[in-house]
Amino acid sequence: MSERLVTMLSQEQIAARVKELGAQIAAEYKDRHVVLVVVLKGSFIFAADLCRAIDMTTVRVDFLGVRSYGEGTETSGVVQITQDLSKPIAGEDVIIVEDIVDTGLTIAHLMDLFRTRQPRSVKVCALLHKPARARVEVKVDYLGFTIEDKFVVGYGLDFAERYRNLPYIGVVERS
Ligand code: 5GP
Repeated sequence: MSERLVTMLSQEQIAARVKELGAQIAAEYKDRHVVLVVVLKGSFIFAADLCRAIDMTTVRVDFLGVRSYGEGTETSGVVQITQDLSKPIAGEDVIIVEDIVDTGLTIAHLMDLFRTRQPRSVKVCALLHKPARARVEVKVDYLGFTIEDKFVVGYGLDFAERYRNLPYIGVVERS
């Protein structure tokens, strides 16, 4: 069986959209301090580009390691925290940075968890959203692209730990 990668979103398309998202966040938060919570591992490349597109001097970046149990390419929504934040977020304006919202279960779980930590606000910034697969309704405040129901890789997203280093978003096709 051979594998072929088909581009869904090019490097240029992603870069232009990430720039817009950064500008939108900077405009809305203005001089406020904001904490970007990067959900590992899939969001690391998106977050690296996004934080540089936010023209504010007061951005703090923190990382959250999560593992969601599920079979194959499907999440169960049971999320285990494998690495917690390095500092409390009480009183902070937080933006959760996610690679992709699929069923929505991961974000819904993280929103519930974060609310118990009393931040001032929590918003969600996701590069991709697959609304066709939503199982719970989640509000994505800053969204890069809505995509069709295909399993995508690249720009941080993996398939069995492969393809994270692709500079674009692609779909693996097998023949
Ligand atoms: P959700 O809980 O919204 O179903 O899933 C969120 C997580 O599932 C994402 O953060 C990502 O790790 C993984 N995921 C969902 N869809 C895809 C996809 O198309 N490609 C890859 N590589 N991961 C996905």
